[in-house]
Amino acid sequence: MYGLGIWRGLQVTLTHFVNTYLDDIKWGFRRHIHPDAFAERQSLAARGVFTVEYPDEKLAVPERFRFIPFLVVENYDHPDRPGYDWCTSCGICAKVCPPQCIWIVRGKHPDTGRPKPEPEAFFIDIDICMNCGYCAEFCPFDAIKMDHDYELASYDRTSAHIYDKQKLSKELRYWQSIAPTYAEQEADARGGWEHKDVLKQRDKAAKAAQAEVTDKTD
Ligand code: SF4
Ligand code: SF4
Repeated sequence: MYGLGIWRGLQVTLTHFVNTYLDDIKWGFRRHIHPDAFAERQSLAARGVFTVEYPDEKLAVPERFRFIPFLVVENYDHPDRPGYDWCTSCGICAKVCPPQCIWIVRGKHPDTGRPKPEPEAFFIDIDICMNCGYCAEFCPFDAIKMDHDYELASYDRTSAHIYDKQKLSKELRYWQSIAPTYAEQEADARGGWEHKDVLKQRDKAAKAAQAEVTDKTD
């Protein structure tokens, strides 16, 4: 029927308009400050129209949200290697990064000068990073992840926006807290929560202990 679409559109607008006031009444005209109201407004149960009063109110971001990457390190209370980098400085992330904003310096053994699989320095220019997530996607060691922190503005556009290794490093438990589903999927694929190297070392130690016991009994 001619004009039916216009009528339906007006109906939707009117429903939102009325629901806004009904929602206000439901929360006793405190829906802008009531914590439960804020949670409901971010769910599918949200009704009416509203303004998010940022920065006093912040919308929760979904797990798949991605902003500037961070480097995963062992938890600082890890029994074997606290704070150890998961990054092996393989350089794949720097290679695939479309705007080339990652810069890595590979570590060296102090005695031999030979390269060792950990980064001595790691920089990301966050003004150039376009949050594409390629680095996290391609990293073979689950060592770089996309962060949820989007409040990075500062008055210094030069040094403050070049993130170094210290600023980029965050514990594994941080990744588990912001993206529990993805972290668990990766752990399943790896064969446990630990880094592959730790699992290998433990396996090696168990085999050595077993061999020692066998030698003694022979
Ligand atoms: S973050 Fe991953 S891809 Fe990048 S250098 Fe480290 S191990 Fe390689
Ligand atoms: S998110 Fe994309 S642009 Fe940013 S550092 Fe990773 S690969 Fe580069």
